Amino acid sequence: MNFLKRIKNWYYIILKVKSRILVGRPVLVLMYHRINDEVGQKLAGLTVSVATFEEQLQYFKKHFQIVRLEEDWTSLEKTGLVLTFDDGYADNLWNALPLLEKYGIPATLFVTTINSNTTDEFWWDRLVFDYYAANDFFFIPGFEEKISKKVYTYDSCVEIVSKLKNEDRNKWFLEFELLNTINYNSREAYRSLTEAELKLLSEHPLISIGLHTHHHYALGDLSFKEQKEEVLLSIHQLEKRVSNHIKYLALPFGSYNKDTLVIAEEVGFKGVLLANDYYSNKKNKAGKKINRIIMPNIKDEAMINRLKNFDC
Ligand SMILES: [Zn+2]
Repeated sequence: MNFLKRIKNWYYIILKVKSRILVGRPVLVLMYHRINDEVGQKLAGLTVSVATFEEQLQYFKKHFQIVRLEEDWTSLEKTGLVLTFDDGYADNLWNALPLLEKYGIPATLFVTTINSNTTDEFWWDRLVFDYYAANDFFFIPGFEEKISKKVYTYDSCVEIVSKLKNEDRNKWFLEFELLNTINYNSREAYRSLTEAELKLLSEHPLISIGLHTHHHYALGDLSFKEQKEEVLLSIHQLEKRVSNHIKYLALPFGSYNKDTLVIAEEVGFKGVLLANDYYSNKKNKAGKKINRIIMPNIKDEAMINRLKNFDC
């Protein structure tokens, strides 16, 4: 090893020791969505297969200190790891819970309440289905003529649909499906937890339930008043369904602004969770803004290398 390299290595070791003293060990707060073998064409990054999820859990159990989001992170003996699931898909109960139980691993589910007790899918899942079911030249509601998918990509449609309020969005989908003669039926594999399932999970010793808003709007795009209404609605809707939840809010799409943080403080949240692909530590936790790392459907070297980036 040459002299410069050695200096550089020492420099990193000193930085690491300094950060351990100041902010403690890193905690990798992982973000999952669906655990399912039925994978969508476009949103594969949001789904981890059951077998891969089990391999991931086995690795975590061996190499990390698995902790709860809400517990004290101050005296960790290893790098910490927290499991979180966003949106409240029913497969968290069908596929994730049995494995969490098998390995005794706790997790937090951040629940969006709008679809509980309905067969409705989240708009992003329905949009993937509809877009790929449409022909290469297709109709978009409000457009006079058919348009090519080369011009109007899936992401262009996301641009339109993501900006609509919930009621308008349902109308948009019905019109899109009618114009493009798409036979859409909501799919069981994409449904949300029912109220009964949610209640069951909330009473499970390994599971904590947190908030993920009612409508899943990007809070950063809303006014102060709209954000506050959405947050209060989310608390109300969740409290109607479960008797205990933790006061943490996972931000839909990771979107927020300074108003969001003011509101979080006003309603007494212990923290908000970002979607920024970064590790956390006790300092972030005390600052009430917790970083999260997306965990895709990867295993072995790919997973180990991904986690290494954050385990510093
Ligand atoms: Zn979400």
